[in-house]
Amino acid sequence: MQTIDNFNFAGKKAFVRVDFNVPLDENFNITDDTRIRAALPTLKKILNDGGSVIIGSHLGRPKGPTDKFSLKHILPRVSELLGVDVQFADDCVGEQAAEKSAALKPGEALLLENLRFYAEEEGKPRGLAEDATEEEKAAAKKAVKESQKEFTKKLASYADVYVNDAFGTAHRAHASTALIADYFDADHKMFGYLMEKEVKAVEKVMTDIQRPFTAIMGGSKVSSKIDIIENLLDKVDNLIITGGMTYTFTKALGGKIGNSICEDDKLDLALELMQKAKDKGVNLVLAVDAKIADAFSNDANTKFVPVNEIPDGWEGLDIGPETEKIYADVIKNSKTILWNGPTGVFEFDNFTHGSRSVGDAVVEATKNGAFSLVGGGDSVACVNKFGIADKVSYVSTGGGALLEAIEGKVLPGIKAIRGY
Ligand code: AMP
Repeated sequence: MQTIDNFNFAGKKAFVRVDFNVPLDENFNITDDTRIRAALPTLKKILNDGGSVIIGSHLGRPKGPTDKFSLKHILPRVSELLGVDVQFADDCVGEQAAEKSAALKPGEALLLENLRFYAEEEGKPRGLAEDATEEEKAAAKKAVKESQKEFTKKLASYADVYVNDAFGTAHRAHASTALIADYFDADHKMFGYLMEKEVKAVEKVMTDIQRPFTAIMGGSKVSSKIDIIENLLDKVDNLIITGGMTYTFTKALGGKIGNSICEDDKLDLALELMQKAKDKGVNLVLAVDAKIADAFSNDANTKFVPVNEIPDGWEGLDIGPETEKIYADVIKNSKTILWNGPTGVFEFDNFTHGSRSVGDAVVEATKNGAFSLVGGGDSVACVNKFGIADKVSYVSTGGGALLEAIEGKVLPGIKAIRGY
């Protein structure tokens, strides 16, 4: 497989798929430029080699061209961070884009307008009437899949090399994240540095496992984490199931959970998972006490109770001190750690203690030589909030992509480049 380090971009044009899907405020100021910074090593390597870059990205979920999701809003920051006056093409497959990319000289960069202004990027039909028949839906799908080929070919035609540095969309088989790779031979397509790092980190926790291996799965719903939990049961020694999921398990075991979040239709599933863990010799760790509140609010009255004795009118919003201790002991004895999801409603300052204590334990284990991967949705916000992002082994930028990789799925964006 070709690698970015081994490739000399001198005189070459590279189409680089990045994830510049950054948050913007109502005046289009970037509120967090992490994703742009994350792609800089790749872009700079190409420019420093004497190559030129055509940068493609999506922003938001537009249903067509709209000023709100225009990448022109981020152009000044991209130029500033890259240290190059980046050009802009206001239609990613328009004549201007073709002309500007053809005219690029070594060291120059061009940012294409939002790829998702075209339905062809995602390959999903748009604007279908709500009452469309199945035939109409199928015909629309077929049509967009057909025009997607032309769209993809056009994007590919701008460049000599394809570089994918957008791990955040690696689980999508979109035009610019996967299909485009078919237009380049094996020597002319590769991962960018960020993608390389992400793939390596996931592989480390999924294949090169130092034991004990502990996964900490938080979050609100069992239903959204079930595939990951099942896959992890074949891999981990300890599985801490925490956050809102706690109460579905507690109720399934016959506990009183008051008004705590619970998926009543998943009680059997929770029992099944516990049985599976037992059969596989996995130590499934659940909370024993909870910090409960008399309202879903930071300012609610609170107290600590056993997790299965929550009175009506109260709900568990974080773990209690006993549970913190139990989790910390397990985590500190681990050599591989995967952390996805908070132990409670960490957005409320009065319910961050449990998540913070997990963070501290992960940091300590990492200091003692464990490999710790943190990622998926809120976990990143969590480690940033606690200021420990640089004290764990790796913080993934991928939300859905990371979770699908952990579920054991092959990610189209990865497969398109390395073949599996
Ligand atoms: P997820 O998006 O599934 O990873 O879940 C993360 C969300 O779960 C966060 O927004 C937390 O506030 C929420 N959460 C964690 N614990 C609880 C809880 N005990 N009750 C309600 N929501 C929770």
